[in-house]
Order: sequence, then structure tokens, then C-alpha cells
Amino acid sequence: MPVKIKFLGGVRTVTGSSHLISTDKSEILLDAGLFQGHRNDFYDINTTFSYNPRKLNAMLLSHAHIDHSGNIPSLLKKGMRCKIYTTAATRDLCKLMLEDSGKIQEEDIRYVNKINRRLGLPLRKALYNRKEARHAAKRFHPVPYSQKTCVANNVFATFYDAGHILGSSIIVLDIKDGVQSIRLGYAVDLGRRNLPLLNDPFIPTGLDYLIIESTYGGRVRPPIEEAKIKLKEVILRTIERKGKILIPAFTLERTQEVVYFLSELFKDKSLPFIPVYVDSPLATDITDVFKYHLDYLNQETRQHISQGQSPFEFLNLSYIRDQKESKTLNNDRRPMIIIAGCGMCESGRIVHHIKNNIEDSRNTILVVGYMAKNTLGKRIVEKTPFVRIFGIEYQLNAEVVVINSFSGHADKNELTDFITQSLPLKRIFLVHGDMEQTQPLFENLSQICQNVYIPAKDEEVLLE
Ligand SMILES: [Zn+2]
Ligand SMILES: [Zn+2]
Repeated sequence: MPVKIKFLGGVRTVTGSSHLISTDKSEILLDAGLFQGHRNDFYDINTTFSYNPRKLNAMLLSHAHIDHSGNIPSLLKKGMRCKIYTTAATRDLCKLMLEDSGKIQEEDIRYVNKINRRLGLPLRKALYNRKEARHAAKRFHPVPYSQKTCVANNVFATFYDAGHILGSSIIVLDIKDGVQSIRLGYAVDLGRRNLPLLNDPFIPTGLDYLIIESTYGGRVRPPIEEAKIKLKEVILRTIERKGKILIPAFTLERTQEVVYFLSELFKDKSLPFIPVYVDSPLATDITDVFKYHLDYLNQETRQHISQGQSPFEFLNLSYIRDQKESKTLNNDRRPMIIIAGCGMCESGRIVHHIKNNIEDSRNTILVVGYMAKNTLGKRIVEKTPFVRIFGIEYQLNAEVVVINSFSGHADKNELTDFITQSLPLKRIFLVHGDMEQTQPLFENLSQICQNVYIPAKDEEVLLE
């Protein structure tokens, strides 16, 4: 019985992770990530499938990030009926993330159609809307870590903690092939050791094949502990100037990590007692999932919570859902910390806060995440003297600080360590990385083992 893997997406690039495993009796999909690229390619790539979604026997979801889960609603629209196996935390996070993704698609298409209508061009359809995104909720089938579950004929899946975001998993597939069996590991995305809130990544043993990410395959990232020290320095400096600290942050994991470090700094009195606002309904809902799924957090965090010291709740921390309340922060002149979505400053409440505070040199814009090209966030990181926001030019007078040590992805050394500990392997497939990151990892690994391979999009490989 031939077992095949087809690399559908998230190969030689970071978005759109999806891979199809087929045996003679079943088809199993690993992740259904949204391809995030140019608007013209976006719709076609995300709606064209080289397999029949109706015929899938199971889908296995590694974690709630949109580049792994964001195309589930498109598959459902094309008739996917199978269960989506994942952890309970991923299920709850994914419901929020998909609904938000549906909202973004609706808003984006409204904007595009406004222009198309003016130009007399045909109107376009959203990839999916909020209502369609909500249908995914019915398909999730939660499984606990370390429990081997039969997901299709002769195919068993076990989820282990990937230490990347809450509920994230390394998935191990045991595929029975007559008297033989194939053991395949899927570590996309893989976390780092010592991340706040999370456990270290689990290292599975006895694998024959490994599919692994390479997002930072060519880089060594500073240790996460450095983030706390830098955070303290920046905040103290800004308070001295009587300014505000604006932190654009991704709503899932990064916001909770920043809040965690702040809670530590206030607890050990390293910072004066200034107000902290998480100004985002989505980040507030996501933090509620963290509070509910305490069993996914590391022992240290759980211990703090059991002693009444939750990192998600401290006296000077407020979560803001209401837009009116968000606007009152504009007139509040006290030094304060505002954490708001979206991470790249392209939409959401952070844009309003930046607009209102960017010209005052007492303030700081603190960047704690990746900024893609052509975003307001990138222009701020590059310290462009004037930036356009809602069509008006603003002078960038606020201090701009970038902290690079925040990262949920294993770097070059951590990926190499993980793979070394998983050896011997028949074959290692490097995915989820731009070639400038994947290639150096490939070269590094080729010195310690053979059989490292970088698949191409839509390539099919036989597993023996
Ligand atoms: Zn991820
Ligand atoms: Zn990813």
C-alpha cells in the first residue's frame, strides 16, 4: 500500500500551510492555512483544490494561527464533511480567529467593491464571511495531548505540545501498512524553550519521517528573557518623559506574553504603578480562552494562578471592548501603556492611537512583532520622518523601539537541536519558510544527516 504525501501549501513560503496524506483507503489533511499574498492571487489560490474536500476522511489541525487554519471555511464551502481533530484550546481559539478572519474578508471586499463600482469593474465576492466562518465550530473534535486516536482507516494521530502558542501541537501519525507501519511527525509550527506561559516543545521519538518548519532556519534569535529587560528600560524612559507607550501586538499569544512580562515587572516593583490597557475586543476574548484552559499553561504560571497571582489580571490592568471607552484614552494625559491590535498597524484601534500620539516626542511606539513590507508598522520601524494615516500626513516624533526577542518560533539552533534529537530519520522535509531561511537550515543539517529535502508546492512524495 503506497502512502503518499502531497505538499499543497506553506512550502518555500510561510503562509497557506496544508499537506495531504493519502493511503489506499483514506485521505487526511494536515492543516488548511490561508495563503496571504497579493489580493489578485489570494482568491484563486485559496479556492482551488487539487483534491476533493468532500472525500477527506479527517483533518488534523496543528494550531489556531490563520496561516494554518484560515482556509477551513473555504473547504467547508466546497463540501468538506469530515471531523477536524485538534486540541480543545485550539478549537476555542480557532473559533475566534476564524470569525475575525471572516470579518476582515467582508471589510476588505466592501472596500474593493467600492472602487470596482466606481470604475465599472465586476464586483467580487468575499472568500468567506463571518457567518460562514462560524460553521467550522461544528466540525471540531477535541483530543487531549498524548492520546492516540484513530482518525481514519489504519491511521492514528497523537497530538503533543509544540510550545508555540496555547494549544499548539506537534502531530504524530502512525499509519499501518500491512505488517509494517510508518511514523510521521509534523512539527509546523515549532515553539521555543522557556517561552512565558507555555511548556517547552515535546520531542517525539521513533519517527521515520519529519515535516518541520524553517521560518527562522537561517537566524539565531536572542533569548526571550531579554524581552523583559528591554521592556522595563523602554517603559521607564517613557514614564520619565511623561509619555505614553503604544504596543501594537498580535492578539493571539503576543498580547498575553507582553501582559505576562508586565505583570512580573509590576509584581517585583521594577515599574511604577501606571495604567495598562489591552484595547481590543478580540485580544480580550482570546485572553479569556487562556484563563479557561489553564491546563495548557506551564507549571510556573499555573502555580502563580493558584496562589491568586494571575498574570492576566492585575490591579492596574484593564481590558477594553467598548469603542467609546477606547476613545477616552485620547484625552487621558497620564503616562500609560496601551496594547492594541492589529500587529502590523494596518487596521484596528492601534491606528487611532498611533495617529493621536505619533507627533508627541514624549511617547514611544514599541514594536514587538514582525512587520511586513508596505505596512504602516514597517514604515514606523524604518523611522520614515512622515507617515500617512487615513490620508493625512503625520510627523514621526515619538521614539520607536523594536524588541526582537519576542518570537514563538524555534530558531536555527533550536530547529537543529530538535531534529538532531529526532534522528535517525528516513527523510526530513523542510517547509514553512522563505528560501532565504530554509536554505541555510538545509545546509546546516546536511552536515549532520542525509535525506534532508525541501519539497516544492504540489509535489507528491512516496513514503516507504
Ligand atoms: Zn503559528
Ligand atoms: Zn505558521
